[in-house]
Amino acid sequence: MLAATGSFLLGVTLPINLRATGPVEPMQPQVLAVSGPQEPKPIANVNRFQGAIAHRVEFSQQTIGQLEATRFQSALPSQFKGTMLRQATLDPKHKAIALTFDDGPWPKTTTQILDILKKNNIKATFFWVGRYLQTYPELGKQVAAAGHAIGNHTWSHQYIKYNEDGAAREIDRTSSLIEEVTGVKTSMFRPPGGILNNGLTAYAQKNNYAVIMWSADSFDWRTATQSLIENVMSQANSGGIVLMHDGGGNRARTVQALPDIIARLRKEGYKFVTVPELLQMQEQDMKKQETAQK
Ligand SMILES: [Zn+2]
Repeated sequence: MLAATGSFLLGVTLPINLRATGPVEPMQPQVLAVSGPQEPKPIANVNRFQGAIAHRVEFSQQTIGQLEATRFQSALPSQFKGTMLRQATLDPKHKAIALTFDDGPWPKTTTQILDILKKNNIKATFFWVGRYLQTYPELGKQVAAAGHAIGNHTWSHQYIKYNEDGAAREIDRTSSLIEEVTGVKTSMFRPPGGILNNGLTAYAQKNNYAVIMWSADSFDWRTATQSLIENVMSQANSGGIVLMHDGGGNRARTVQALPDIIARLRKEGYKFVTVPELLQMQEQDMKKQETAQK
């Protein structure tokens, strides 16, 4: 509800907010709707109007500030749009890794993973399946509100070939719903099953999405808890992107493994970032190198 109200406010109250950057005009029609019935004392009434305006302006700015923050969480440096990558290339002095969760939102396990991430003060990246977001929009709102980054993982998660219209339906519909539910306009796409040649990735790249693959596959959908931990640890590297799942089936093993994975990576000195943050780090490192070479 919050995010739906948010998108509504962004559309409707943004002009009010922009006007409010100057001195507040006391008699805007929008404000009349907020104030109560007329009262006999005119001076008190003016004060009430001003109070209501101040409150309304503060509310709009807060809401828009939150929306901007949520959008920013999933914003990518423009140089990566239309590209495909399995990990970031970072200066060796950085040790950063991105945890990613696919196939949600999903009842129970998405909430459990959110709780673990919150306890550990970690922001991650979630790639959503549109039809699950349609079924569980409240879970989606919780993920976005917690500050995690959001990517597109198609509408129906099928391993079939698509023509351009079919790919457009899978990808556009999902991105529209993500924006409608959370206010996030995502430019990250991850193909189901990592399939790169069935028409989806081509469409995504043509439409300026960055195709985000992974460098460390937990195989959490098919392995026991202990071996999925080992899978992540043996493939972890700086700039790496770890693939796990919070939805699409029973993810109890992922929930069980996650605290250990976090503890062990942390012990090895890793900092946890979202995919957009990882790419921002790469961009900054590249700029520093360019400056140093000059
Ligand atoms: Zn998937």
